[in-house]
Amino acid sequence: MIIAGNFKTHHTRSSTLAYAQELDSLLVGHRSEVVLFPPSSSVPYNQFEHLQIGVQNAYGVVNGAFSGEIGLEQILELQVQTLMIGHSERRKIFGESNQECFDKFRFFAQNNIKIFFCIGEDLHTRDDGKTQDMLRAQLEGIDLDYAHLVVAYEPIWAIGTGKSASVEEIWHTHSFLKNLGVRVLLYGGSVKRDNVAEILDIDGVDGVLVGGASLKIEDFYPIIQEGEKRC
Ligand code: PEP
Repeated sequence: MIIAGNFKTHHTRSSTLAYAQELDSLLVGHRSEVVLFPPSSSVPYNQFEHLQIGVQNAYGVVNGAFSGEIGLEQILELQVQTLMIGHSERRKIFGESNQECFDKFRFFAQNNIKIFFCIGEDLHTRDDGKTQDMLRAQLEGIDLDYAHLVVAYEPIWAIGTGKSASVEEIWHTHSFLKNLGVRVLLYGGSVKRDNVAEILDIDGVDGVLVGGASLKIEDFYPIIQEGEKRC
């Protein structure tokens, strides 16, 4: 089981460090993989015993003239080996195209970085019955056999809305994605302590990516504990 928390643009450097230290101490003896994605300026050294730290975004270069971005050199200095690519907020707000996500994938996969690759359909696509076409297109430029790949299926209409996809919807889409060849597959979209158990019990769900409910340890740790029960 993989339980990942995405802080988005929440938490400062000091509050992230305090959170990560406390969470790491709670993870003693845990078998599940727990990953935290803080904002770039808050990313602590990835030197915890159990907790893994990742970055929410990076540009596919070692370094260079790319103002506002971080590259491989910056993440490796923090001993970070995990990167999120293609979160729907990157795609929608910052205009990242499928091709840009594929290019990032190629560069960071060549550098052996573990990649959490996010995909998901918007409401309009879902209502048009085109979800599978969109998901297939979002994956077509990446190597599904890459050993350090985790795909996160996050329906956009479920992110931050408090309205998760139903168990049936998740099962249906995860079955489709597993049949396409996705090996490790997380669900994300309004996961909370109240609904995580039923989500983790769905066939084809290998863990969850959590936004809002990861911001406080008292909300996130019960989610991690549910994952741990299934390890
Ligand atoms: C996310 O941002 O990846 C996410 C799933 O957010 P939330 O859990 O708040 O819906």
